[in-house]
Amino acid sequence: MNSLDDTIAAIATASGEAGLAVVRVSGPLAFEIADRAFSGSAALAAAPSHTLHHGWAVRPAPLSRGGSEERIDEVVAAVFRAPRSYTREDVVELSCHGGRLPALRVLEALIESGARLAAPGEFSMRAFLNGRIDLAQAEAVVDLIHAETDAARSLALAQLSGSLSRRLNGLAEPLNDVLVEIEARVDFAEDVGGIEVPPHALAALEAATAELAQLLEHAAYARAVRDGARVPIVGRPNVGKSSLFNALLGEARALVTELPGTTRDRVSESVEIAGVRVALSDTAGIRDDAGRVEALGIAMSETMLAECPVSIWVIDGSAPLDAADLALAPRFAGKRVVVALNKSDLPERVTAGEVSRVIEHACEGGDAGAAWVACVACSASLGTGLDALRAVVVDALGGGARAGIAMSVSNPRHSDALRRAREALERASERGAEGAPGEIVAIELREGLAAIGEVTGQGIDPDLLDKIFGRFCIGK
Ligand code: GDP
Repeated sequence: MNSLDDTIAAIATASGEAGLAVVRVSGPLAFEIADRAFSGSAALAAAPSHTLHHGWAVRPAPLSRGGSEERIDEVVAAVFRAPRSYTREDVVELSCHGGRLPALRVLEALIESGARLAAPGEFSMRAFLNGRIDLAQAEAVVDLIHAETDAARSLALAQLSGSLSRRLNGLAEPLNDVLVEIEARVDFAEDVGGIEVPPHALAALEAATAELAQLLEHAAYARAVRDGARVPIVGRPNVGKSSLFNALLGEARALVTELPGTTRDRVSESVEIAGVRVALSDTAGIRDDAGRVEALGIAMSETMLAECPVSIWVIDGSAPLDAADLALAPRFAGKRVVVALNKSDLPERVTAGEVSRVIEHACEGGDAGAAWVACVACSASLGTGLDALRAVVVDALGGGARAGIAMSVSNPRHSDALRRAREALERASERGAEGAPGEIVAIELREGLAAIGEVTGQGIDPDLLDKIFGRFCIGK
C-alpha cells in the first residue's frame, strides 16, 4: 500500500441513500483516467486547479469497437492539481447522485479506465507519505469521523490542525540540539575517556520531561472524550440502580420493580456527560443467594467492575448498610467509585462519611491500593442530586481540569509512545545527573526522541503504518 506510483479511486461518502455521493481519484494519471469516465464541455486534464465542471459520468467506450459512451449519471467534477490537494497528488472528485448504484457505477468506470481500487485509508496515507500531514494529523481525521460528542470533535480538530504535532516538534528540537552537542563532545573527548553532560543540557532534558508529563496529565480524560467510557452502576438489589439508570438516561429503559433481583442482566445505554459519551450499564444486583439466570448477570457485573476504572455504587441511603453492601466494598480497591446515596427523599440512615470509611477500611492493606471515593446524595425518584452526580462522574473520569484536555493526547498509541519517551528522558536526566558518560545519556536520549517521532510518524516502520491506515475506512 506504500506505493505512490499508481492512481487510486474509491467512493468517499457513506453508502446508503443520500443527495450526493463523491467518488475520488488520486495519482499521477488522475486527470487522464477521469477524462475517460467523464464527458463534459472541456477535458479535465486541461482544467485549472480548484475548478468545477458539469458533465456526465460515462462508461468508457470500447476503443477497439469504436462504440459510443454510455451515460451513468449527471455529475460535477472538481479538479485539484498537485500539490494543492488532499493527497498532494492530482485529484478529481466526481459528485454524482447519492445512493448505491450511481456511485458504484462511476467507480467501476474509473477502474475500467485504469484506476486501482484504493485500500482503506490510502488517500490519507498518501497525504502522509507526501508530507502534507503528519501521522498524528492523519489519525485525527479518523477521530473526527468517529467523534460522537462536540468535545471529541474539538479535540480531533485541534489535533488535525497540527497543535499536538507542533508541540511535539517544539519539544524535540532542543532535545535534538542537546543530542548533537553531547555527540560532538563525545567525539572530541574520545581520547580523554568520556565526558559529563553539561548543566544546560540536563536542564533541557528536565524541561522536556516536565512538558511530556503535562501532555500526559489529562490523557485518561482525553481518551474518555475520544472513545467514551463504560461506567457500570452496581449495588445490592433494590437500592434503586434501575431507577437511577433511567433517571440519568431520562427515559424508562430498564425494568423497575419492587422485587429484589428483577434486573437479570446488563442493560447498557449511552448518555453524554460533559462531552464524554458514557455507556451506563445497569447491572444485576450483586448478592450470593441468586438464581441461575440472575447469577449470570451477577457474574457479568463483577466482570464489568473488574474491567472499568470508574463505577457508580448505588446505596439505599434510607436503610442502614447491610452485609450485602459491605461485601461490595473491597471490590473498589484501586478503582474510582462514585457513591450514589440514593433515596435522599426518605430520612437519612447512612452518611457519606460512613460509606467512605467502610470503603477505606475494606481496601486497606490489599495489593490493589486505596479507592478514590466521592459520595453524592440523590433521589432517583425525584430526580434530585443528578447534576452533582454527573459532575462527580466527570471528575472520576479524570476531567477535574477540563480546560487542560485541549492540549492533551487522546489516542492510546500516542500516550503509550509519549510515556516511553518520558521514561527514557527521565533515565537520561538521572544518568546525566549522576555523572554518567555522555554516550550513555545519548543512548537514552535517542530512545526518547524516537518515541516522540513515533507519534508524528518520523522514521516509523512501514508495517505499522499499514496497520494504522488499515483501520481507516475506504475512501478516506
Ligand atoms: P434495583 O434493584 O437496585 O435496580 O432497584 P430499583 O430501581 O428496581 O428500585 C427498587 C425500589 O426502590 C423501587 O420500588 C423504586 O421505586 C424504589 N426507589 C428507587 N429510587 C428511589 C428513590 O430515590 N426514592 C425512593 N423513595 N424510592 C426509590
